Amino acid sequence: MQLTDQFGREIRYLRLSVTDRCNLRCFYCMPEEGIHFLPKDQLLSYEEMIRLCGIFTSMGVDKIRITGGEPFVRKDLIGFIGSLADNKQIKKLSLTTNGILTRPYLSQLKACRIQQINLSLDSLDAQNFHKITRRDEFDNVMSTFHQMLDEGFAIKINAVVMPGINDHEIVPLAELAMNYPVSVRFIEEMPFNGTGSVHAGIKWDHVRILAKLKSRFPDISPVPAAPNSTSQNYTFYKAMGDVGIIAAFSRTFCGTCDRIRITSTGEMRTCLYGHNVLDLKALLRQGERDEVIRDSIVRVVQKRARDGFEAEKLRGTNNPIGESMSVIGG
Ligand code: SF4
Repeated sequence: MQLTDQFGREIRYLRLSVTDRCNLRCFYCMPEEGIHFLPKDQLLSYEEMIRLCGIFTSMGVDKIRITGGEPFVRKDLIGFIGSLADNKQIKKLSLTTNGILTRPYLSQLKACRIQQINLSLDSLDAQNFHKITRRDEFDNVMSTFHQMLDEGFAIKINAVVMPGINDHEIVPLAELAMNYPVSVRFIEEMPFNGTGSVHAGIKWDHVRILAKLKSRFPDISPVPAAPNSTSQNYTFYKAMGDVGIIAAFSRTFCGTCDRIRITSTGEMRTCLYGHNVLDLKALLRQGERDEVIRDSIVRVVQKRARDGFEAEKLRGTNNPIGESMSVIGG
């Protein structure tokens, strides 16, 4: 069977968060003091995650991305990824990381069928990196970036564009795609910042980011988007890689959305902007059979919001967005 929503969108992509913890404190994601991190027994165990992934791949999911918080903050992650890679129904297994703890595991990741890694990097300036992340890890992350290049990973750089913080670095970040075979993606800022304060609109949307890129690369031209892609990519003269823009706040790509999320606590989300719709951990821990869990998944997917705006509205006024991205998994 192929899991499909009521709009005919096939669900093929699962974003699995393995932890709510992180070793950075990016201010657009969580407050300096961090968030109330959950005790381990409230998180899905690796065995539960393997079982859930098996259920989803039996319903047509063939792409799984490991996210966090920061995945490598969770112990024995590489063992878990190795077990997950044994599920041959997964055609594409990938990872999002901030690169701080990642380097020692790169060759093992390759052995686990991980070819593509998203690296979060919002600045190419050590001081500004520190200002954004509240940690002194710039050199470490750049060493990971270069070792990932040397080891031949397909790299996507994710940079959130923040007014007055790193908007002056849009061009230097984009120039990475001139000098390296990487895809540099600029992401509109989102309101998942752990403070509960609702975001008052964005200053750097996809239109303005593109205009900035055009000012540096006048010949910039769109690259045909991969099906279901959230990133609109562009190339330019002498580019070794490409640049992309993810209109994550403007939500221009919901019509082809093929993804769902599982948080590290086993909550299922059918839209990033929506609320949790199904407690998979509860179903597992009350001993439900796979078929029962599958039926529950089908039911909530059939009630999925048309797009991120509808999903946000369905949260209602008592449940405004404000949770940290690290509890959702990006
Ligand atoms: S905002 Fe929601 S519906 Fe739109 S692409 Fe993201 S997850 Fe899908």
